[in-house]
Amino acid sequence: MTKYFNFVQDKSLILSQNNEKLLELQKHLRQTSGNPNLIVVSTNMRAGLDCTAANECFAFVDKNNKYQIGPETIHECFGALLERRLPHLRNIGSYNSEIIEKSTFKQLIEIFDEILDYADVYRPQAIGGDYKSTEHFKAVMVAAENHPTKTIFGYTKRFDILRMFKNKIPENMAINYSYGGKWDSQIKYNTKITKDVPTTFVITPQLWDIYEDSLIAKSKLPELEGIEVPLQKEKYDDYNFIVNRKSFGILIHGTQSKVTKERLNQKSIEVAPER
Ligand code: SF4
Repeated sequence: MTKYFNFVQDKSLILSQNNEKLLELQKHLRQTSGNPNLIVVSTNMRAGLDCTAANECFAFVDKNNKYQIGPETIHECFGALLERRLPHLRNIGSYNSEIIEKSTFKQLIEIFDEILDYADVYRPQAIGGDYKSTEHFKAVMVAAENHPTKTIFGYTKRFDILRMFKNKIPENMAINYSYGGKWDSQIKYNTKITKDVPTTFVITPQLWDIYEDSLIAKSKLPELEGIEVPLQKEKYDDYNFIVNRKSFGILIHGTQSKVTKERLNQKSIEVAPER
């Protein structure tokens, strides 16, 4: 595990430093910013259990280390799969989740201020999790305002929160809506919204077939029209799209394969009751 994860444990939340993707980003930003000591961190939350608006990807690992999915899950959750393999990662997610849940709004601001005092680039919730509440998101916003030279970037499936704070999110904070959540119906067939709220689409192989035929894409999936799909030559490609407030498509990758009937028949996977 230590190959990909270093943890900073002397802060209020346990910070993940240098998971493989963020390590590449840190290296790139150190080279391009001229700051050889630039620090990129994230905070792991619990996959699924802290994803308050996940739908098509919803999965979590229960106390018995069983991988569970939701009734509408259609593709695998990388975070939950990883937590099943690495219980330590799940414990860290639970620890962070509990701290956020128990903290008052004032304490939350202090927690995120502390992170931004330390790090130059912060990605809340990498690998698993999402904003647990409006207050959680708002506290990150306040800390971003308190640290205008720092960068906060990432994803959320909480379209409701993004819309609520649409004109209030500070310049140095860029969060894309991650398609595949409970708020998708607000996005579907409304290209205007994807311009207002930058959105990241997971392009499944099925969707890719449709996407390649622009005529069908136009009639069936207008939200994908004109959306770039970076080839992800570099692991940090998404960073550039997000900080430039662009919508983009992300190709589904190996670990995020489609949930198949065969997978569902495996003893290690269960369909959780509807939340
Ligand atoms: S939002 Fe991400 S971490 Fe949460 S269930 Fe979906 S794929 Fe997993």
